[in-house]
Amino acid sequence: MALVSVSGLTRIFDVSKPWLNRVVEQRKKAFLTAVSDVSFEIEERSVYALVGESGSGKSTIGKMLVGLLGPSEGAVEIRGVDLAREQDRAKVDAVRADIQMIFQDPFASLNPRWRVRDIIAEPVAARGGDTTGLSERLLEQVGLSARDAGKFPHEFSGGQRQRICIARALASEPRLIVCDEPTSALDVSVQAQVLNLMSDLKDQLGLTYLFISHDLTVVQHMADRVGVLYLGRLVEEATPEDLFDDPKHPYTQMLLAAAPKLDEFGRDVPPPTGEIPDPINPPSGCAYHPRCPLATDVCKTTRPPMRMLRGAKVACHLAQ
Ligand code: SF4
Repeated sequence: MALVSVSGLTRIFDVSKPWLNRVVEQRKKAFLTAVSDVSFEIEERSVYALVGESGSGKSTIGKMLVGLLGPSEGAVEIRGVDLAREQDRAKVDAVRADIQMIFQDPFASLNPRWRVRDIIAEPVAARGGDTTGLSERLLEQVGLSARDAGKFPHEFSGGQRQRICIARALASEPRLIVCDEPTSALDVSVQAQVLNLMSDLKDQLGLTYLFISHDLTVVQHMADRVGVLYLGRLVEEATPEDLFDDPKHPYTQMLLAAAPKLDEFGRDVPPPTGEIPDPINPPSGCAYHPRCPLATDVCKTTRPPMRMLRGAKVACHLAQ
């Protein structure tokens, strides 16, 4: 059984103006569908990457996976337990204890008034566990010094702070870590070091990652499977090898064309073309059709179903 099973996951937010404004302005309620009918599985000890532009719904999926948000429809099952519907609280707590999250901004996610020792040990201390020597051991595991335990977060660089965040995530010995853009606030050289560290820790500790990124190249060497999101829907899912060698969805092709390439370092990178549509009023049919160079009439009226194509899953009428 997969460690994580996501099926038909949908999250709708009520973004209506207050009642009085709606009455005066004669406006209806407004809803934003951030995630729509997303399904995927994550095998134990593997890395699943979710990639898309900002507003694609990837962070909302991450929050539903760790239980910070409930789904409007569909389900997230971890070790067969549906976190939103399971009635047995002991089962839910046991599963939650197995999940940790690493956020994008290592500056904002560390309490500036706490010493690093207390920050790292906090998840264990909160459950009454033994924290003797825990922070020092974890600091060394993430490539810092045990002596750093007595310092405050402002005494570290961005990359070192993200290492502290990783140490804190490891403190409760999780099986699944949701990593939400963990390197995007860091310099390129530091990004590579942090990614290598995360990859090594995964192998050493048998971890499973959901890795969220806007950048396909960041996940290329780390992921076992990549899901490409567009406006809240999965449009393609494949192994990184398939995705990079043979991208099938026009949106994946555009993301790859816009990604910086090592052999062309320093070239001008064109940004993805076209605007992301308003998610409150998404386009009909295939939501990508206003930006798609291949769009035909059927794309404007009929949403393409997800189908298998040469070992990948793709949602496009014309992908061949
Ligand atoms: Fe483009 Fe049509 Fe495929 Fe959508 S379904 S990606 S609009 S070709």
